[in-house]
Amino acid sequence: MTDRCCRCELTAVRQVLAFGYCLPHLRALYATFEHVGVGLPVGDDDLLQCCRCNATWHGPFGDICWWCERSREAWIEQQAALVLVPPDLHIDLNDQERRQALKAWAHRLRNAVDAGIIDQQQARRALENAS
Ligand SMILES: [Zn+2]
Ligand SMILES: [Zn+2]
Repeated sequence: MTDRCCRCELTAVRQVLAFGYCLPHLRALYATFEHVGVGLPVGDDDLLQCCRCNATWHGPFGDICWWCERSREAWIEQQAALVLVPPDLHIDLNDQERRQALKAWAHRLRNAVDAGIIDQQQARRALENAS
C-alpha cells in the first residue's frame, strides 16, 4: 500500500483499485459515483459526512448514505410511475402518428428496463394494456 495520494502529496487514507487517495480526492472520486453517496470522516470521532448530500451520521468509514439511498429509491419509484403512463393518443391523431407515439413510448420503456427502473414484465404489461 502506498501512503501517498495518487493525485497529490497528501497522505492516502484509503486505497481504491490499487490507488491511494487522500480524503479530499477520495471525496471527489466518490462524488462521481451515481445516485448514492458515501460517508467520509469529518473531525476526530466516527462522525461521517455524505460526499453527495452532506448528511452526517456516525458509522464506519465508507458507509453507504442512507439518505441518498432513500432518495434514490423514491426517484426510481417516481421515474417508474412516469414511464409506465402510456402516451396521450389523441382522437385526431392518424394511424401513423399513433404508431409513432407508441413506438417512442416503447423505446422509453426499453430504456427504463435497461436502467433498472422497471422490469421487462412491467414494460410488457404496460404495452399490452395500451394496445
Ligand atoms: Zn490527494
Ligand atoms: Zn447522501
